[in-house]
Amino acid sequence: MPTSTFNKSFPTITKIETFIPAAGGDGGDYHRQKDGHWILDGGKPHADKAGVKCGISNPMSGWEQYRENRTSWGIDVLGSLVCIITASDGTQGVSTGFGGPPACWLIEQHFARFVIGSDPRDTNRMWDQMFKASTFYGRKGLPVAAISVVDLAIWDLLGKIRGEPVYKMIGGRAKDGKIPFYLTGPEPTHARKMGFWGSKVALPYSPRDGFDFVRRNLDFLQKHREDLGDDFPLMVDCYMSLDVHSAIQLAQGAIDRKIDITWWEEVLHPDDFDGHKILKARLPQVKWTTGEHEYSRYGFRQLIEGRSIDMLQPDVMWLGGLTELLKVSAMCSAYDIPVVPHGSGPYSYHFILSQPHSPFCEYIANSADGKSIAPVFGNLFLDEPVPHGGSIDVGDAPGFGLELNPAAVLIPSAHFLAPSPDKGLSRTDDEQRVAKLQQLAAVKANGINGVNGGAH
Ligand SMILES: [Mg+2]
Repeated sequence: MPTSTFNKSFPTITKIETFIPAAGGDGGDYHRQKDGHWILDGGKPHADKAGVKCGISNPMSGWEQYRENRTSWGIDVLGSLVCIITASDGTQGVSTGFGGPPACWLIEQHFARFVIGSDPRDTNRMWDQMFKASTFYGRKGLPVAAISVVDLAIWDLLGKIRGEPVYKMIGGRAKDGKIPFYLTGPEPTHARKMGFWGSKVALPYSPRDGFDFVRRNLDFLQKHREDLGDDFPLMVDCYMSLDVHSAIQLAQGAIDRKIDITWWEEVLHPDDFDGHKILKARLPQVKWTTGEHEYSRYGFRQLIEGRSIDMLQPDVMWLGGLTELLKVSAMCSAYDIPVVPHGSGPYSYHFILSQPHSPFCEYIANSADGKSIAPVFGNLFLDEPVPHGGSIDVGDAPGFGLELNPAAVLIPSAHFLAPSPDKGLSRTDDEQRVAKLQQLAAVKANGINGVNGGAH
């Protein structure tokens, strides 16, 4: 009589490939958008300058020439990538994220060795090897974002091999109903019309905009609050643009003017861990959140143990993928700190559904004016689920439930990572084919944008 029924036969990983989506709005880089998109310039007229958008307060706001639009200093410089991992039975897992060609290079040249030949169930071992082997140049930022994309493709592959959704492999359903959403965008009144429970706006003015930045920001927030009435939550994203003193000035000013703000997000530079302790000590009644630019459990350990952050917002496409997010989440659960990931579409939906201390989800408006719902990853996937009426019901499709759109043009990383001088300097047939496909995709994208008013 057998002592175990464990099935030792399981497909192994045979191939890992990386690509760049040819169409700008496709993929996991939130900021690869056309000019005029609210996420780049805030979408609001400047309070004092006619015909100028007021911008989004950010760490570069101190430089006049880079103040009005975040693409001016390169927020979109890396772009998206797509990772496809193939198993020995032919099953493929696919993911997207940000990091563009540099991330493709890291995955192909460095991380592939830890993935090829592996059992896709060995997520912890593969993650540990990728993270530790890149310690000498990694730990945070782009290298960990590249690891994240590989990790998400592995989870997608695993779900597709097993024929079950990712959330069922990480603890199962922890919520009875649908996941409720708040909207991040320029028009909170539209968020309410579309059924979201609350809305988050970008802070327009940084301390570098002048001594009266507090008044101008509070005027901006008061107008939103008046438009919304008292019963709709309003949050403020400060995108690392304040310091301890200015954050206290703003939050105290809102209290004094009775502008109800549900939370103040990412007010400080991500490395100012002690600064958060001062904020919480000075204004304990204010809800402070952060985390989207923090990486790995080591980075989050400091934020969690400080007991000064009221909600953590890791980005699953940046902090290390789902494998690392689960570890950060477990640490947070021991402190009763809610975890509400930054954006990330379906990757976040599966995580949130499985976590009792992840009460709702963020939807970052992907349409140019923030007034309609568009897929988070553009046209990269077929039928990407999006929130309807302010909520989503995660289906039972295997993996993350994302199938690549055959119409999405993917440029193989070999085309830009491995130039081959012995083939000559003229374009190969293959390259000409890709160039032609890119042209077609651009024509198609323009056509779609024409219909949707730039929503892409
Ligand atoms: Mg944010």
